[in-house]
Amino acid sequence: MTAKDIKEIKELLHTPKKIIIIPHKNPDGDAIGSTLALYHYYKQKGHLVTVISPNEYPDFLKWVPGEETIVKYDSQSKNATTKIQEADLIFTLDFNHFSRTGTMESLLKKVNAIFVMIDHHQQPDTYAKYTYSDTQMSSTCQMVYHFIDMCDDLALISPEIATCIYLGIMTDTGSFRFRSTTSTTHSVIADLIDKGADNTAIHEKIYDSNTMSRLQLQGVALQNLRVLSEYNTAYITLSQQELDSNRYKKGDTEGFVNLGLSIQGITFAVIFIENKNEGIIKISFRSKGAFSVNEFSRNHFEGGGHHNAAGGKSNDSLSDTVDNFISILTQYKEVLNS
Ligand code: 5GP
Ligand code: MN
Repeated sequence: MTAKDIKEIKELLHTPKKIIIIPHKNPDGDAIGSTLALYHYYKQKGHLVTVISPNEYPDFLKWVPGEETIVKYDSQSKNATTKIQEADLIFTLDFNHFSRTGTMESLLKKVNAIFVMIDHHQQPDTYAKYTYSDTQMSSTCQMVYHFIDMCDDLALISPEIATCIYLGIMTDTGSFRFRSTTSTTHSVIADLIDKGADNTAIHEKIYDSNTMSRLQLQGVALQNLRVLSEYNTAYITLSQQELDSNRYKKGDTEGFVNLGLSIQGITFAVIFIENKNEGIIKISFRSKGAFSVNEFSRNHFEGGGHHNAAGGKSNDSLSDTVDNFISILTQYKEVLNS
C-alpha cells in the first residue's frame, strides 16, 4: 500500500460512505478481530459500516466488541446481498482470493464497489483496487493497526478497537511465540494495552473457555494421534461419528493440530476432520522450519495459507485421504528429515 493509495482512500472517505467489511469463511480470531477493529474505526469516522461474514464463527468469539452486529451471509443472504450490492467500498480482510468466502464468491465477482484488501497470506489475487498485502506480518490485525497508523489516526484507537486488534495478533501468533512475532508486533501490543486492551481478560476468554465435551473430544484426538517417525510427522483423525458423540460445536477442534507439533522431533503435523455435511475432509497443516505447508497444501489438497500454517480439503473418504497423504509423504522424505 503506497502513500498515494492511502491518500486516495482518505479522499474517497472524505464524505460518509457505505462500507462493507468481509472476513474469510469459518472466520478465526484474526478474521473477526480485524474486521471488527476496522468496523469500529470507520463507524467512529461517521460511515455506515457492516461486517458480513460468509458463515457462523465459534462461540469463543461471541464476546468480541461489535460481534452482535455481524451479518451472516449463509443464513441472511438476501439482506447481505443487498448491502453488498449497495456498497461504495468493500474491505476484504484476512484472505486474498474470493474462493475463500465460499458461496459469496460469485456475488463478489460481479459487484461494482471499490475493493480494498488487507491480508498476510501468500499469493494474493488481483481483484482489489487497493492491496495491502504483507506475508511477513504476524496477522491481519497487526496490519489494521499499521493501516490506521498510515491514515494518521492512531489516536482514534478506542478500548474496543484495541481489544479487537489484540485478539487477532494473539490468536495468529500462538500467543506471541511464532516466528512472525517481531519486536514491532510487541510494540504494537504495548500500545494496544496502553489504549485499553485487557490482555489477561482477552486470553482467558479465548483459551479458558473449554467445555467438558471439547476436552473429551481432545481426548479422542489424542487417542487417534499417530506418529510417522521416518517423516518426523504426526497426524490426527476425527470422524464425523467421533465429533457427533462428543457433541462437537464449531471451533471445538481449534488448536488440536498443534498437539502433534508439540511432540519432540516432530516438524510436520496434520489433522484430518470429517465433515459429512459438506462431503469433505477438512485438513489443517502445521510445520516448523523449512517445510512449506502452503506449498504442500496447494500441490496436493486444494488449499494454501502460510509457510508454517495452512489448510486444505479432500473429497475422498477419511481413510483414503490418510492413505493418500502417507503415500505423498514419500516424495518429501528428504526435506522432512533435513
Ligand atoms: P486452519 O488450519 O487454522 O484452518 O488454517 C490455517 C491457515 O490456512 C489460515 O491462515 C487459513 O486462513 C488458511 N487456510 C485454511 N484453509 C484454507 C483453504 O482451504 N485454502 C486456503 N487458501 N487457505 C486456507
Ligand atoms: Mn490471519
